[in-house]
Amino acid sequence: MSCALVLGSAESKPYAKDKKTGIVMHQKASALDGALFNNVLGIAPGTTGKEILETGRKQLSETYPHVVQINNEKVTSVSPLDTGFLIQTNKHSYSSSVVVVAIGPSNLFNIEGLNKYVERHQNLPIKKDRIQLKNKDHLVAKNLYVAGVLAGWRSQFATAAGSGAHVATEILTLWNDGQTSMVHDSEPK
Ligand SMILES: Cc1cc2nc3c(=O)[nH]c(=O)nc-3n(C[C@H](O)[C@H](O)[C@H](O)COP(=O)(O)OP(=O)(O)OC[C@H]3O[C@@H](n4cnc5c(N)ncnc54)[C@H](O)[C@@H]3O)c2cc1C
Repeated sequence: MSCALVLGSAESKPYAKDKKTGIVMHQKASALDGALFNNVLGIAPGTTGKEILETGRKQLSETYPHVVQINNEKVTSVSPLDTGFLIQTNKHSYSSSVVVVAIGPSNLFNIEGLNKYVERHQNLPIKKDRIQLKNKDHLVAKNLYVAGVLAGWRSQFATAAGSGAHVATEILTLWNDGQTSMVHDSEPK
């Protein structure tokens, strides 16, 4: 969601003019479900992960309604096309020129086409038996990114969300022909 928010915020940039962003908003297997947050900057102590799942979805739909949220679907396969990828869910298929995978480090990971990138998580205890996708600075293969704990980060909310925001700036930079790009809103003077 963090990645989608930053991508959504680039709507008015000339380089984003012909770009579309969508997110498969599965949410049923999120680490946020059951979590309680007291140690995250900007999030009021006592906020639950369940609340963040709901407010995050609302923030995305109300602030950046052009970002398409695909609900109640689970990705089952990601396969390369001549340009871009075919994304299969349990209900539909979609194509996209760039894909970001951010589905957490469960060892039950099973997305056809991506299983070959799975390796043991490098920064979580071996006994937890978690996995990550092989990547270099979040890039798994051309136009295929991984974000969050699945990218190899330790499990802290701010780290996972920051990772998603970072991947968004990588994509904005890609859209902007390699010129480093980010989106900052400012208070009116
Ligand atoms: C009990 C608990 C307490 C915690 N407390 C804290 C805390 O106090 N402070 C802190 O900083 N961090 C805390 N955390 C850690 C924090 O919640 C995680 O680090 C963070 O949520 C990881 O984000 P992520 O995006 O990598 O994964 P997730 O938040 O797990 O998101 C992955 C998403 O992918 C979806 N998904 C899975 N499979 C598919 C599929 N095939 N297709 C489509 N979508 C799919 C899931 O439904 C989920 O919505 C806690 C975690 C837990 C479990």
